Amino acid sequence: MNQAFIALGTNIEPREEHLLQALDLLEADTRITIQKKSSVYETAPVGYLHQADFLNMVLELQTSLSPIELLDSCQQIEKELGRKRDIRFGPRTIDLDILTFNHENSTVERLIIPHPRMHERAFVLIPLAEIAPEFMIPVHERSVEAYLEDLPEQDKEDVRLWKSDI
Ligand code: AMP
Repeated sequence: MNQAFIALGTNIEPREEHLLQALDLLEADTRITIQKKSSVYETAPVGYLHQADFLNMVLELQTSLSPIELLDSCQQIEKELGRKRDIRFGPRTIDLDILTFNHENSTVERLIIPHPRMHERAFVLIPLAEIAPEFMIPVHERSVEAYLEDLPEQDKEDVRLWKSDI
C-alpha cells in the first residue's frame, strides 16, 4: 500500500457540494481509502486575485495505485466535476493536487512530487499540519510544522477555519 497526501480546492459554488462530490468519487474507487481528512478552510485567492475565495482541505490516502494512476483518477474527478482550465490559477470547480506519494520524488512535467509549491502555501500547510504535523516532506526532509512556522503571518491569517467536518 502507498501513502499519498492530496489537496482539494474549489471556488465555484456550490463549493461544499464540490468537495463532497470529490470525496464520494474518491471513496467509490476501491483502490483508494481516505485515511484522514482535515477540516475545511476558507482562503483568499493567491496569484490571480480577481476571483472568489476558495475552500481548501487535505486528505491522507492509502492506495494501491501508482503515482500516475492516482493522478489519472484525480484528473478524472476534476473532469467529472466540470473543471474549466481557461485561466491558470483561475476559478475552478475542483482542483486535486498530489502533494506527496510515499517518499518519492518525481520531476516529470505531468507529475511533480512533492508538489513544487506546497511548502509555500498556507492553504496547503495549515490543513496538512492538522492531520500530519510531523510528516517529513520528502527531498528536504523537513516537517510540515517547520515549513508552516516559516510562513509570513499574513499568509496564515488569510486561511480561516470554515467547517471542522464535512
Ligand atoms: P493545475 O492547473 O495547477 O492544477 O495543474 C494541472 C497540471 O499540473 C496537469 O497537467 C498535471 O499533469 C500537472 N501536475 C504536475 N504535478 C502535479 C501534481 N503533483 N499534482 C497534480 N497535478 C500535477
